[in-house]
Amino acid sequence: MKDCIFCKIARGDIPSNTVYENDKVLAFDDINPMAPVHVIVIPKKHVATLLDVIPEHVDMMGDIFSAVTEVARIKGIDEKGFRTVINCNEEGGQVIFHLHLHVLGGKKLQDELA
Ligand code: 5GP
Ligand code: ZN
Repeated sequence: MKDCIFCKIARGDIPSNTVYENDKVLAFDDINPMAPVHVIVIPKKHVATLLDVIPEHVDMMGDIFSAVTEVARIKGIDEKGFRTVINCNEEGGQVIFHLHLHVLGGKKLQDELA
């Protein structure tokens, strides 16, 4: 997708601080962190929202969740714990319409993105 911010980040057209990457997914620090650790995990393939996930995407979703484990270990929040959030559409708080999962941690979480 030409004008999608997260596609641009995936292509390297917009810089980001990579936390973890493989051929299917990219994890990078959120530009406006809501917690000491706030990482965005995206599939490199453009899928707009959680509602657009179809059975053919099951491997992609597995890749995303496997990346969460990597991110938690890399950031050192695996043992203490963290929260994952996927916002969907306007009332869910979705602003970027490229499927992404937030990984939040590094403190005792209250209502951040909950
Ligand atoms: P949403 O509200 O769509 O679930 O989350 C989008 C997230 O992307 C927000 O937390 C926002 O701070 C982050 N974000 C938006 N634009 C950029 C960007 O250009 N770079 C990075 N690293 N994060 C971004
Ligand atoms: Zn995209």
